[in-house]
Formats: sequence, C-alpha cells, structure tokens
Amino acid sequence: MQNDPLSHGLWERSAPAAPATAPLADEVRAEVVVIGGGYTGLSTALHLAERDSKVVLLEAVEIGFGGAGRNVGLVNAGMWVMPDDLLRTLGPKAGDRLISFLGEGPAHVWDLIARHGIDCEANHVGTLHVAVGQSGLDEVAERYRQWSRRGAPVELLGPDATAARLATDHYKGALLDRRAGTIQPLAYARGLARAAMGQGAQIFTGSPATGLQSQGGGWRVTTPHGEVIARQVVFATDAYTRYLMPQLRTQQVFLPYFNMATAPLSDNLARTILPGREGVWDTREVLSSFRFDRQNRLVFGSVGALRNTGAAVHRAWAQRALARIYPQLGDVRFESAWHGTIGMTRDNLPRFHKLAEGVVSFCGYNGRGIAPGTAFGRFLAGWLRGESSDADLPLQPSQAQPVALRSLKAAFYEVGAQAAHLVDARR
Ligand SMILES: Cc1cc2nc3c(=O)[nH]c(=O)nc-3n(C[C@H](O)[C@H](O)[C@H](O)COP(=O)(O)OP(=O)(O)OC[C@H]3O[C@@H](n4cnc5c(N)ncnc54)[C@H](O)[C@@H]3O)c2cc1C
Repeated sequence: MQNDPLSHGLWERSAPAAPATAPLADEVRAEVVVIGGGYTGLSTALHLAERDSKVVLLEAVEIGFGGAGRNVGLVNAGMWVMPDDLLRTLGPKAGDRLISFLGEGPAHVWDLIARHGIDCEANHVGTLHVAVGQSGLDEVAERYRQWSRRGAPVELLGPDATAARLATDHYKGALLDRRAGTIQPLAYARGLARAAMGQGAQIFTGSPATGLQSQGGGWRVTTPHGEVIARQVVFATDAYTRYLMPQLRTQQVFLPYFNMATAPLSDNLARTILPGREGVWDTREVLSSFRFDRQNRLVFGSVGALRNTGAAVHRAWAQRALARIYPQLGDVRFESAWHGTIGMTRDNLPRFHKLAEGVVSFCGYNGRGIAPGTAFGRFLAGWLRGESSDADLPLQPSQAQPVALRSLKAAFYEVGAQAAHLVDARR
C-alpha cells in the first residue's frame, strides 16, 4: 500500500492480490455511486450489482486502505456496548431491531465468503471475550446473561474451561460466542471487491471523491481525473473520511490500535497456545487481542499508535505481555507491526445519516465494523432500490453532531495507552 509502510503489515503481505483496478479517467453514469472501498462500500456495491443495479465505487487510495485492511479480523456479533445499554440508548423497539440485525451480522459474512469463494482464512470457530480479574468476570457474566436471554449461542466458561481453551490460567473466565470467528481482513475486502466486479460493479482506486454537486435530480461526484453522475450517493468512508463530508469524521473520536505478528510458530507450539484458534480479546480498559493467522503467526494487538515514542513503548510491552501469558513463546519477536484508526462515537453506536436528498452514510462502528459494515451494506442495497422502506431501517437516521475537544480526547487515548503499557511492562 502507498503512504505508510507500517499501515497494513502482515495483512498486506499475506492477502491474495487485489483485483486489477485503475483511477477514474472519464465521465461515467451510474444509478448509485459508492464512496469508500472498505466493507460498507464494497458490500453495498456487491449487493447492488447482484441486483443488476449500475454501481460505481470510488476509493481514494486502494481497496481496504482504511480500517478494513488494518483490523484484528474478529468477526463479532453486536457492538461493544452491552445489549441492555443499547436498548436504554435507542429505546426498546429500535434497540431490539438493531440488536437482532447486528446479531445476524456474522452470518452474512460467512455466507458471502462461502457464496463467492473468498479466500480470506475464514475460521468460523467463535471468539472468546476473556475476563481479567473479578471485575472482568462480572462483565462477561453479565454479557452472557444479556445475550443468552435473547437466545444467542453464547457460553460462559469458568476458569477451568477457559484454561483448557486458551492453555493459560491468565484469565478468570470467558464468553464464547459461536456466531463469531476470524478472517484475514484485507483478503476479505479484496475478495468482496473481486466479487462485486464479477457481478458488474465498476471500481476505481486512486480516485478520491473531492467534489459533490447536485445535477438534474441526481449528483455529480468529482475526482481528480474523472466524474460520476448518479442518482444516489453512498458515503462509506467512516474514520478514514477525507475531502468531503467532514461531519462524518468530527462526530468520532479517533482511537489508535496496533497489531504485531510473530513469525510462524510450529504446529506443536501453536497447539499449546490456542488449540481451537478462536479470536480473543480481553476485558481490560486498555484492551488487548490475539489470534492466529493461517501460517500460525500469532497476531497480538492493543490500543496505541506506533509513532513517536509509542513505537518502542508498545513493542516492549507487547513482548513482555505476550511472554507473560504464554511463557513457552520464549523471547518474543515480531515480524511485522502496523496500526490504524478506530472511530468512536459518543454513545458507542453506529450512525445512519441522510446527508442530502439521495445521499446517505452508515459509519461509526466503534471497532466493530466487519460484520456490521457487511450487514449495513447488504441492507442499503435493497433500501436504495426501494425494496425496503424507512420503517425497515436497522438504525434510524440522525444528524452528525461534532464531538467537543475531539483532538484532545484522541491525544488522551494515545498518551494514556502508552502510560498504561509503560506501567504494565514494569510489573
Ligand atoms: C486496528 C483496528 C482494529 C480493528 N479490529 C476490528 C475487529 O477485530 N473486528 C471488527 O469488526 N472491526 C474492527 N475494526 C473496525 C473495522 O476495521 C472498521 O469498523 C471497518 O473497517 C469500517 O468499514 P468501512 O467500510 O465503513 O470503512 P473503512 O474500512 O475505514 O473504509 C473507508 C474507505 O473510504 C476511503 N475514503 C475516505 N475518503 C474518501 C473519499 N473522499 N473518496 C474515496 N474514498 C475515500 C478510505 O480510503 C477507506 O479505504 C478495527 C479497526 C482498526 C483500525
């Protein structure tokens, strides 16, 4: 990828090549123009193309340049917020609708991967939300109670069952969610792009949308070397929004998150670490996550940016922290390291905006965008074609509200994560 050699790390090295695309260099017409080549945009384009709609997708850099090419690859159901908190924020009717919608999100991901034969290391074996200390155990027990009351296929594991699944006694318990699993995130994005193009979508990379003017009941979207004229416009740019619709950015506080990948481990060693190969994340406030890739590389991540002093602080912490959980790893070395930006909204819930007549956006995934982005894109394709009404929307439209002091809050996350990791590495 261009711009930043750290940006996509292991995922860039191990993903199958992206389908061949080029910058837009012409004037083209479409029914829908989608802006942004991550999961939301690609799923929208794919599902529109499957319905024979003429759709053009514009990506500023490359497929998966944003969160889609940098994340941990945990395909999770729901959001970070507990289901009951979500109900309190949205009210019972809208809340229930969103919870059910997001609960089905992973199923759409697994279905698309199977249907389009996407080669993305898909591992539908569940994820483990692991409890650190008694407060962590209380939290996962509460999550279990709330999800199981809704019939979700979740299991609460006690200390022994957790130790058996994770081969460490580091955690007090875990919530196993069988709807979930892991993917190679950039490979999934590239696979979606290939599938969408196979169905007739036109995708242009290196084509930032820099201008938007209304024209004859529709819209003219300008890029540096070409233009798209379309009736409807979808902004799918989330935390990586650039050039247009700055309100999509300014309603989010940016939380940096990094990942580091070891060299491939032997099968024997890998089996002593995470025999079931689930995706794992913990209950700490400065949380960490880990998972294997197909080649037995352990991908370990946490909050923080690998820039300035953060690069050394987080690396030293990651080596210590991982060796503490799994001493059999010995002297931990990382082959690659990268980071990205997670956009956090005020209430930790995603947003649907009607930005103008015929111009819409889903965004604000709070670090949970693989399944939701895929599911919202799928819904949007039908909704844009009038196959479903506003009453069917999984999320009611809202106005984008800027967050006060967002740069300060983002700096606080970045510096706070360094402080937490400095202290923890000294334990
Ligand atoms: C480090 C990290 C770890 C994460 N871990 C997980 C995880 O384990 N599980 C999970 O579900 N989610 C995770 N997430 C969140 C997830 O990656 C995002 O929610 C998801 O990528 C959002 O998808 P999207 O398509 O809406 O936006 P993105 O994937 O961010 O794509 C937006 C795209 O829009 C493009 N763009 C911006 N402006 C323009 C413009 N003007 N013209 C054209 N193109 C433009 C950008 O270049 C970018 O490619 C993580 C995110 C990060 C950064």
